[in-house]
Amino acid sequence: MKQIAIIGSGPAGCYLADSLLRLVPDASIDIFERLPVPFGLVRYGVAPDHQGTKAVARVLDRVLSRDRVSFFGNVEVGRDLSLEELMSLYDAVALATGASRDRRLNIPGEELPGVLGSGAFTGWYNGHPDSQPPPIDGVRSAVVIGNGNVAIDVARVLAKSATELAGSDLSPEVTSWLETQPIEAIHVVGRRSAADAKFTQHELAELGTLQCACPMVQDSTTLAGDGAIVETLRSFAADQSRTASVMIYFHFNLTPIAFLGDGRLSAVRFRSADGALHEIPAQLAITCIGYETRPCCIATPANGVFANVEGKVKDRLYVVGWAKRGPSGTIPTNRTEAQLVAQRIAQEVPDSTRPGRAGVLQLLAQRHVWWVDYAAWRQIDAAELACACDGRCREKFTTVTKMLEAAQVGQGLSCPSATT
Ligand code: NAP
Repeated sequence: MKQIAIIGSGPAGCYLADSLLRLVPDASIDIFERLPVPFGLVRYGVAPDHQGTKAVARVLDRVLSRDRVSFFGNVEVGRDLSLEELMSLYDAVALATGASRDRRLNIPGEELPGVLGSGAFTGWYNGHPDSQPPPIDGVRSAVVIGNGNVAIDVARVLAKSATELAGSDLSPEVTSWLETQPIEAIHVVGRRSAADAKFTQHELAELGTLQCACPMVQDSTTLAGDGAIVETLRSFAADQSRTASVMIYFHFNLTPIAFLGDGRLSAVRFRSADGALHEIPAQLAITCIGYETRPCCIATPANGVFANVEGKVKDRLYVVGWAKRGPSGTIPTNRTEAQLVAQRIAQEVPDSTRPGRAGVLQLLAQRHVWWVDYAAWRQIDAAELACACDGRCREKFTTVTKMLEAAQVGQGLSCPSATT
């Protein structure tokens, strides 16, 4: 029998568990998650108006429900258990901790109120317990820095009307903040050319379908090159006379060099390739320039990821997902990658008599750690679905305390000494 611990219950961790279940018939897999709720980026990164994409949570949920898998929510490796302990208790450990730290531009003014990383902003509109609302109001102009799909998500959520956002799981607080901002202009700014943009065509084209917003290219002479993205941008630029209550302007070849403002953001300064300076007035700027992995206990990332060779960090320690390859690819990329890492684990890790789950249950009991098991997660899930009102598909609990109350943790459900 192989006892395997996976740290992180996002798509990478769940797909790895799924592949291991198929490849190793007697594997016993424990998934540790610092929050009481699973699914990582699917719950807290995928845009709330893209519920079709979020539906992959049902596939991941089936993995957690399997007999040979145990979910340990509300257990943080580094706080409740150490990585060394997991390494001694399990035959293999996999880091699937994602990349949750916003990359920084490291330019003047980045600390000004009104400047946010995309992780902070998307975490807030997705109801992440660690997130804070933007500390500003009166946003008429927003600058979105970066030319990837996260920049598109952020621009779209800012641009959509309340009617278009109905049916999502945006919280009433987020809906109310968005509704009360007098947004007239959203500037999506790339440091390279339109042909270099990393948008996918489907996401970009969606901006052309919004009810109250109109995408436009600020300077259509920047649209050199071929391909679906440039073609879509050309279609946006074709009719310069179009207007809407919210204009989404695309700018290219502008490198951000400073955030300006006295006490709060008032403009973003860029330099173009010819050295000229450009300022775009803005009360809100969101940097969508990628993410880095955070340390996990003694495991320390280098260059934003855990150094690895095809998913292997060292003997019996593996890594998958954004923590392995950086913030790239789509959700299905994790499935393909997880299959390869699972094959390595299946081939390289011998069976042993390590205590695995029994040892962890003992440690959690000794430390009085109340964890959320799969049944308790389903209680949280059911309570969130039952709370939804005003057309929302779900009303997420936005604090750990409320999640634990809904899970009835501490009232006998997930008492480690009561479960083996
Ligand atoms: P991304 O696709 O890598 O885009 C990051 C953008 O930030 C690039 O345009 C990059 O420019 C720019 N950038 C990086 N450093 C910069 C700097 N110092 N100054 C200015 N610009 C800088 O990353 P992402 O948008 O965060 O998305 C992450 C992954 O999630 C991607 O694989 C994405 O496709 C995926 N995703 C998918 C969806 C979807 O399918 N609906 C939605 C969201 C995210 P350069 O190209 O010049 O480096």
